[in-house]
Amino acid sequence: MSELNPAQILIAARDKKKWEDRWKVIEALIESMMSTLPKDLPRRTLFVCLLSHLQDFSRGQFYYFYTKLRAGEAAPDGFSHDQALSWLIDQTGFDLTLIAQAIQQRHTSTSADIRTALQVADQFAERMLAPSRTFFTEMPAVLTYLQKSAHSRVIPYAPVAMVAVPYTCVPAPGGNSGLMYRRDYLALPHEIGHYVYWHGTIPEGAFAGLACHRAIPSRMTKLGMPNWALDWAEEIFADVYGCRVAGPMIALDFQDLQVDLHARASFVTNDGEHPTPYLRPEIYLHTLEALQMGKWARALGIRWSHLRDALAPSQPTLLTHGTDGSSGPGDTTLDNARNLLKAITVDLNQALDPVKFGADNLKPIFTVTVDRPMDTSQVERMFELWAGIDPTSIGDLGAQFEDHCLPFVWLDWKNQQLEQSLLSVPLATNESKESREWLVVMRAGGWTTEGPDSNPDPK
Ligand SMILES: [Zn+2]
Repeated sequence: MSELNPAQILIAARDKKKWEDRWKVIEALIESMMSTLPKDLPRRTLFVCLLSHLQDFSRGQFYYFYTKLRAGEAAPDGFSHDQALSWLIDQTGFDLTLIAQAIQQRHTSTSADIRTALQVADQFAERMLAPSRTFFTEMPAVLTYLQKSAHSRVIPYAPVAMVAVPYTCVPAPGGNSGLMYRRDYLALPHEIGHYVYWHGTIPEGAFAGLACHRAIPSRMTKLGMPNWALDWAEEIFADVYGCRVAGPMIALDFQDLQVDLHARASFVTNDGEHPTPYLRPEIYLHTLEALQMGKWARALGIRWSHLRDALAPSQPTLLTHGTDGSSGPGDTTLDNARNLLKAITVDLNQALDPVKFGADNLKPIFTVTVDRPMDTSQVERMFELWAGIDPTSIGDLGAQFEDHCLPFVWLDWKNQQLEQSLLSVPLATNESKESREWLVVMRAGGWTTEGPDSNPDPK
């Protein structure tokens, strides 16, 4: 065999057709998954819609870039066709894995405990989403699956909230403790908050009609918030949303979470995404106040001050932005951070005003009067009641899903996304409409886990 010369190597590496070959493999996989779905699979219609929408959307996105590549069109500054195509093939593959997981976990060959845990999770997640109905023209469906920890997978191609719950929600073999594993469902309300952030539209007040993920940062900028606070926008929104739908129970759970997750060294630092653990539970206390649950807020405030002071007895005064706890430019006093966080939380509670807490949201957990301060035995009692959910009483959640199964119109999606983007952020002087459109299509409305943290933005 003769050796390739450098020019031939370069031509082979730039072979444009390799992308189409890869895409065809993905498309064939989606089709084979659709044709082999078990007839008795719970929520089968939803899976069919999810897979066919994924196929239509990814195909539209693929050929958007591939056609430009074949035609020899130059990519806007900072972008490349290869980057866009490789990213979207990764995203499609990732979603295929999740959908396959959700199917396999519901299959009759899977243990009854796992199937029960998912039935409860589906029902609970739907109740956590329902209070945001004014944020949607059509209510999305919710599909849960089990994995190591809670996550919200943001997908642009179907009105479905895909939310992961931890494996620890599955009852232990040979009976269950009745208390602890149910508690792990409480990650769901916060994850649903992420879904609303990416797919909901502000129904009233400032920036009404704009997608939440565009309106919320604009509202915060209007309040004069610094960049480090803007970086927390999505997480604070998800916290406020979670607390508004799940009430004091999630406020308590998030206190324990801060203690579990954070070593003392990271207690007052900024990871660039989540509100600093030292202050984060205060978001819940302000939200409970906004919900007229002042007694709960006070009781939980006392609880948090004990937990917090035990972890940080020396009363930190500075919020540092170095992840290793080191000081640097932009550090701010903890009191300043606390005040800004409060202002943001108050504003977000106004934006989320139509989302109301009601005992029904957590039914049958909250059967005690909600404005009575809790004690441990009450908390335990609530969890025990929750453990009593009868999964057989759950109706077919997918029954109405056929309404969502409309033919997917790729171009409508693209144009609507572009319009929203131009509406919220006008073009910069050195930016063209073409480069904005390229970015909008690549971002695909935040197609990733918890927002676009792996967005293919130009470097
Ligand atoms: Zn989150």
